[in-house]
Amino acid sequence: MKLLPDPIQRLILALERLPGIGPKTASRLAFYLLRAPREISDELSVSLENLKSSIGLCTVCFNFTLAGQEKCEICASSSRESGLICVVEDAMDVLAMERTAGYQGRYHVLGGVLSPIEGIGPEDLKIHQLLERVNSGGIMEIIIATNPSMEGDATALYLRQQLEPNGVKVTRLARGLPMGGDLEYADQNTLLRALSGRQEM
Ligand SMILES: [Zn+2]
Repeated sequence: MKLLPDPIQRLILALERLPGIGPKTASRLAFYLLRAPREISDELSVSLENLKSSIGLCTVCFNFTLAGQEKCEICASSSRESGLICVVEDAMDVLAMERTAGYQGRYHVLGGVLSPIEGIGPEDLKIHQLLERVNSGGIMEIIIATNPSMEGDATALYLRQQLEPNGVKVTRLARGLPMGGDLEYADQNTLLRALSGRQEM
């Protein structure tokens, strides 16, 4: 005997695959959507359907942007300092930095961190693209804002070594961010302090 009709079961299973959502939350969300006004589930379904096809990566910094657009808003903006690049692990970290409203430079999204255990090497990240950006000139400072974790630190050191021959100034966000923490969860003031207290590596 099936406890639930297939379409509900299917939705619950799909929701359960999302990070941070267990079986209970998945069921609660599914039942909520069933009871809620039609616009709510319609809006969700349309957004999901278009998500992958309407989003691409910026060809300069690899942040998300609209599909077909060569540059993201930040790379395209003439009011952002083009000589300053903040290197982050993922697009969520760009959001975290932008929320501080204290950074006027540009970004480079690595797409992860070096992790020998998980088999992630330099070629799996946007590292050579960063070096190319720096080599093409006009960059005054690289702020390495990988998370304060073992992998984040190892990635920062690796980047500094790679950038050394170029002679560009390389800084790292100041401590004060909790070790093992995530940029994304840092409060705005902590992140702003870490940015202004960044130290040369
Ligand atoms: Zn960009």
